[in-house]
Amino acid sequence: MVQSSDIVEAHGLKFQLMLSEAAIAQRVREMALELQRDYADKKPLLLGLLNGAFIFAADLVRQCTFPLEISFVRVSSYDGLQSSGRLTTHFGPDLELRGRHVLLVEDIIDSGQTLHQFLPQLQSLQPASLRVAVLLVKPEALECEVPLDYVGFEIPNKFVIGYGLDYDGLGRNLPGIYQLKE
Ligand code: 5GP
Ligand code: MG
Repeated sequence: MVQSSDIVEAHGLKFQLMLSEAAIAQRVREMALELQRDYADKKPLLLGLLNGAFIFAADLVRQCTFPLEISFVRVSSYDGLQSSGRLTTHFGPDLELRGRHVLLVEDIIDSGQTLHQFLPQLQSLQPASLRVAVLLVKPEALECEVPLDYVGFEIPNKFVIGYGLDYDGLGRNLPGIYQLKE
């Protein structure tokens, strides 16, 4: 990872800064206020999707001042820069969603395929409610209907890294979000 001002490089590709650390922090605070309004008396279970959402989830919960629980599940469908289409889920053995107000916390929605396949699996575990908080959405890439209850930013249809998102393992630790340069 080579870093110079607003350009970073990963595996030989260049990425340009799109969202600064400060801009993300501001939006995450606003999202937490929206959650406060809807969940303050519900003791929700926030369910972060690994690996990408680990930083967003960590920042979001620390801006929430009401009682909540947080857990993680691992779902993967990506292979480098492209969605592989196949979804693999790895539930923890003791994930109990029945009767809980569940808020899925996701880094980015691209085609929407991941959540389109995963939400029915969660719904079958009979939560009291099920909503989605996502930091980034690429509206031009959406292929299926996905509920977008809390959205951080709508972004262009370009591959991004940083703030938890990687390109073949690199870039997750960048504090800002960077988009692939043409
Ligand atoms: P979808 O199923 O909506 O096409 O893609 C969802 C998942 O693909 C996201 O949770 C994320 O892990 C990965 N993904 C989608 N777009 C990007 C992107 O621009 N950059 C990175 N690093 N991952 C992405
Ligand atoms: Mg993800």
